[in-house]
Amino acid sequence: QKLLSPCDPKVPISNDSRTTILDDGTYGTEDIRKNLTECVGNTPLLRINSLSDFTGCEILGKCEFLNPGGSIKDRVASHILTTVPLPPHSTLYEGTVGSTGLSLTTFSLSLSHRTHIILPSDQSQEKISLLRKLGATVELVPPAPIVDPNHFVNLSERRAADHTAAWEAGEEGVEGKGYFVDQFENNMNYEAHEKSTGPEIWRQCGGRVDAFVAGAGTGGTISGVARYLHSRQTHLPPNERTEIVLADPEGSGLYNKVRHGVMFDLKEREGTRRRHQVDTIVEGIGCNRLTANFAAGLELVGDAVRVTDKEAMAMAKLMVEREGLFLGSSSCVNLVASLKTALRMKKEITYKEGGEPTPTRIVTILCDSGTRHLSKFWKEVGDVGGRDGRPATTVEDVLNAS
Ligand code: PMP
Repeated sequence: QKLLSPCDPKVPISNDSRTTILDDGTYGTEDIRKNLTECVGNTPLLRINSLSDFTGCEILGKCEFLNPGGSIKDRVASHILTTVPLPPHSTLYEGTVGSTGLSLTTFSLSLSHRTHIILPSDQSQEKISLLRKLGATVELVPPAPIVDPNHFVNLSERRAADHTAAWEAGEEGVEGKGYFVDQFENNMNYEAHEKSTGPEIWRQCGGRVDAFVAGAGTGGTISGVARYLHSRQTHLPPNERTEIVLADPEGSGLYNKVRHGVMFDLKEREGTRRRHQVDTIVEGIGCNRLTANFAAGLELVGDAVRVTDKEAMAMAKLMVEREGLFLGSSSCVNLVASLKTALRMKKEITYKEGGEPTPTRIVTILCDSGTRHLSKFWKEVGDVGGRDGRPATTVEDVLNAS
């Protein structure tokens, strides 16, 4: 039986879905998920009240931290695992420093596959222990330049090919295929967002989104969502469609690519298409080369906002103190960029002739929770205020933080 990812039409969940009248007269619809992959997506869209009230705009966060594997990357992992035909007990290979390894491992377990995750040895201990607790094979390699054949991404590609060759040769003890996930260059990444994140946002907003703001690690989220939102607005002139805004941390080259059309691109400089680390305490976003996934939506990106570590840290405190939201670093970068976008766009938009003016609506992504970032980002953020005599953080503090 085919398993579903959030990219498949969600309702009805399966042929078993039916509505019945229960013995107390209320309706009940069977809604039973066959696998953890079917629990991904359909996340709430939350009004961020502090930022919305301050700007007079509507700033909405898509709560991707509520996915079963804990992040936005669940959509990509579940899409790949439910689409790529893999024999049982295959092994997925990926070089990742982020949430992708955790999402892949989570869903592989539920489908009897395995994961082999290769990371540079300077990564935070909590991520490595979590991967090990989930049963991933974790291989740590010394940090290496991108052109080095032992760079963690290059190594993953080679290990996957070696695995498949050994399996095809019938080598003893080798089960299933080796599959190199290749999240930066694999188009299934942005497709997952084009088929699930984008349509969900469009539906939840009743077809009205003035701006979409997101950071880019691989670029899958921003490209996939942008492509879907714009595909629904082809009847409008380009400047009236949802404005797509890149939120970029310091040290990333994507900002210059969007703003000035140029970038320090390691892919071109060093003749390789491999990842380069960006020097910031923000994890998961920022890049110094043009990946296939970012390129897939680049022409739709209308603006870029650069966000400093200090601004992201102030936003992290504000979200805990005012909203009860304990967020990871990339979510905080997204919110800072959304706040600045709101202040720039600030205008009331009337959609229907003679209708009530509606506030500018900005949607962003709350990628993962702060629990993934305790030893790095949250260690720097420190204690939150508003209690025990510590002053509470204000929206102005965020704006003055750089
Ligand atoms: N936030 C976090 C925590 C991530 O791990 C990632 C993926 N690296 C992103 C945001 C960015 O998503 P994308 O790869 O789709 O650009």
